[in-house]
Amino acid sequence: MFRTVLSLLPPAQRGRVAGYLAIEVLSTIVRAVAVVLVVPLVTELFGDDPGAAWRWVGLLTLAVAIGWVVDSIGYRIGFDLGFGILDNAQRSVAAQVARIPLRWFTEDNSATARRAIAGTGPDLVGLVGYLLTPLIQGILLPIAIAVALVPIAWQLGLVALIAVPLLLGALWGANRISQQADRVAAAANGELTARIIEFARTQAALRAARRVEPASSQAGAALAAQHGATLRLLLLSIPGQLLFTVAAQIALLAMAGTIAWLAVRGTIGIPEAIALIVVVVRFVEPFTSIRDLAPAMETSRSTLKDIRTVIDTPGPESSGRAGELTPAAATVQLRSVRFGYGDDESEPPVLDGLDLEFRAGEVTAIVGPSGAGKSTVLGLVAGLEQPNAGSVVVGGVDLGELDSAHRSTVSSMVFQQPYLFAGTIRENVLSGNPEAGEDELAAALRLARVEEFARRLPDGVDTVVGEAGTALSGGERQRVSIARALLKPSSVLLVDEGTSALDAENEAAVVTAIGEDPRQRTRIVVTHRLSTIAGADRVLFLDGGRVVEDGTVAELLAADGRFARFWRHQNDAAGWRITSETVSVGGN
Ligand code: ADP
Repeated sequence: MFRTVLSLLPPAQRGRVAGYLAIEVLSTIVRAVAVVLVVPLVTELFGDDPGAAWRWVGLLTLAVAIGWVVDSIGYRIGFDLGFGILDNAQRSVAAQVARIPLRWFTEDNSATARRAIAGTGPDLVGLVGYLLTPLIQGILLPIAIAVALVPIAWQLGLVALIAVPLLLGALWGANRISQQADRVAAAANGELTARIIEFARTQAALRAARRVEPASSQAGAALAAQHGATLRLLLLSIPGQLLFTVAAQIALLAMAGTIAWLAVRGTIGIPEAIALIVVVVRFVEPFTSIRDLAPAMETSRSTLKDIRTVIDTPGPESSGRAGELTPAAATVQLRSVRFGYGDDESEPPVLDGLDLEFRAGEVTAIVGPSGAGKSTVLGLVAGLEQPNAGSVVVGGVDLGELDSAHRSTVSSMVFQQPYLFAGTIRENVLSGNPEAGEDELAAALRLARVEEFARRLPDGVDTVVGEAGTALSGGERQRVSIARALLKPSSVLLVDEGTSALDAENEAAVVTAIGEDPRQRTRIVVTHRLSTIAGADRVLFLDGGRVVEDGTVAELLAADGRFARFWRHQNDAAGWRITSETVSVGGN
């Protein structure tokens, strides 16, 4: 944990750690002195000249005052370090999230990334001030008190020094036991939650089958398991609680016994013995404080673990070359590309040694059955995914050699499910090219037919699209994302129409955008729509990760193969739709 905290500190602040530790050590010494000063104070009070005790009261007050000053400086540095850790951790995680290969983002990993960025503020800021500081002082203070006791009564000091590791060990053991109990309870709770959700979701089926009693369902079994786990949690936490309590009592007894023995022998007087009892009680207090920190430590540890998981996830291997590609049409090549989702090498890859070339400036339509690997090819060209073997080369530059920032400048992409940022339509489109002039912006808005619907909105293109574009319809979001892609000065335009059902308006927007894009670039479209395919210079029919047909529409129709069959099928489907509409209109 300490190592993670150190590694998360911004380099500029690392030098302050030594200063912070020195302050904490100083604060501990001052506190220990204040505790031990009780001994001469009480001794003088009961001595021949009680007035001499004022001297010690004065010293005690001074120690307390110095303690305040030192502690305020310590907290100040602690919170500065905390904010430094927060800033650095959030920035590192955000930067890493932008680099990690997309296949890493499973449901679990996405949740980890979300926690690592969003849920960490107060935890990280308070990490030093509220957690490390009391922890360091909790460990150092008893040691300092024990050492301070040596000149007063060395036998007691020795017993206290021996008690420190034993009590810390007991705390550690108790914590381990309760962690184990928590794990058992968490697993049972997780199972119970899953079963209850399932039980609720399957109510219709269960009622139809007349199996609605919770007790006889899997939910009943999970409830029973959770009941058992709660019992085990209680039973397991008892030895944990007892371990520390018993150790603390033994330490107290040993020290009280030593004091009594020293008093009986006459080594110390009765007033000194009374004062030492007070010191011994103060000696045990910090251990109890450490025990109370355990839940907060657990939370911080899991926060730091989430952050580490994201930061340690290997990004794409790249030499980080920041080469610029000219924003003009470029030849795109897939050279012996092997690619599979997931790390399981035993699973057959989606693409296995695919060689493919998209000629500069051409519009290529990729067609093929679902699962053929069409979107995967686009993801690789866009640099969203990296091949396991082979390379993707755009304009002679291997994408694998570019750093992620430059890789993302190579192509513009229109996704099946477009994502808009919170902000206005204008801001969303301009994010494709923040330097674009008004004329360029207007052209992109017109080509993507954003203008048409924006005109009807109260604030036009300055209308706020809402969180993730929720204020716009699906088709409108699609058109904004097309405008954004058109505005981006990239060498390659990638459009994934996939299976998305576009209305006639959107379909026209896509066709116009691809056909009339004024920029010289290579365009690749994954589609099943005849209108889009008809405008393509070349068609690739993909199946099972391989190109099975390659040519112009006319050539492939003449060859009468897979594409021709697909084309006829699409034509028939379109024809059927028209017929059915005609029938329904006629029927009215
Ligand atoms: P297409 O676009 O031709 O429908 P894809 O490229 O989307 O095909 O998918 C090719 C294969 O890869 C399919 O078997 C699909 O299930 C799988 N696949 C696609 N995306 C992912 C993903 N994110 N994680 C795991 N497997 C995926």
